[in-house]
Amino acid sequence: MIIDFDVHHGNGTQEIFYEDSSVFYFSTHEYPAYPGTGSFDERGSGEGEGFTHNFAMRAYSGDDDILPIYEDDLLLDIEEFNPDIVLVSAGYDLHRADPLAQLQVSTEGIRKIVEAIMHSCDVPKIFMLEGGYNLDALGESVAETLDAMLSAEN
Ligand SMILES: [Zn+2]
Repeated sequence: MIIDFDVHHGNGTQEIFYEDSSVFYFSTHEYPAYPGTGSFDERGSGEGEGFTHNFAMRAYSGDDDILPIYEDDLLLDIEEFNPDIVLVSAGYDLHRADPLAQLQVSTEGIRKIVEAIMHSCDVPKIFMLEGGYNLDALGESVAETLDAMLSAEN
């Protein structure tokens, strides 16, 4: 399973696995925004239908909008898909201080997203750094991510 919280939709990742039922792609992103993909109705096709889940978020959405997606919706998808491993596209340009996008997620909100992912299932998780263009916010967010990962029991 790939979980993508970078503010930009992972159009390439989605395309690679769009017809593949062995990899579930779960993404939150600002929409409409670059690269223009990631609407709610992009759900996969063929064998992969239902194995892509996009949460398109309006500009200026914040913690209260994004946290229920990771604390509730993600758990339903994980329960159904039952992944062997979780890869996270960890882009920090969803932070409210980021100059390239308009989501308003706080550092604490990012930590709660990471905690929700860490607690979502008992399988290995790998976070890969993606976007993040305010270096102070990026540093803070990565430090919170590492701390939340080290504090989690699984
Ligand atoms: Zn990005």
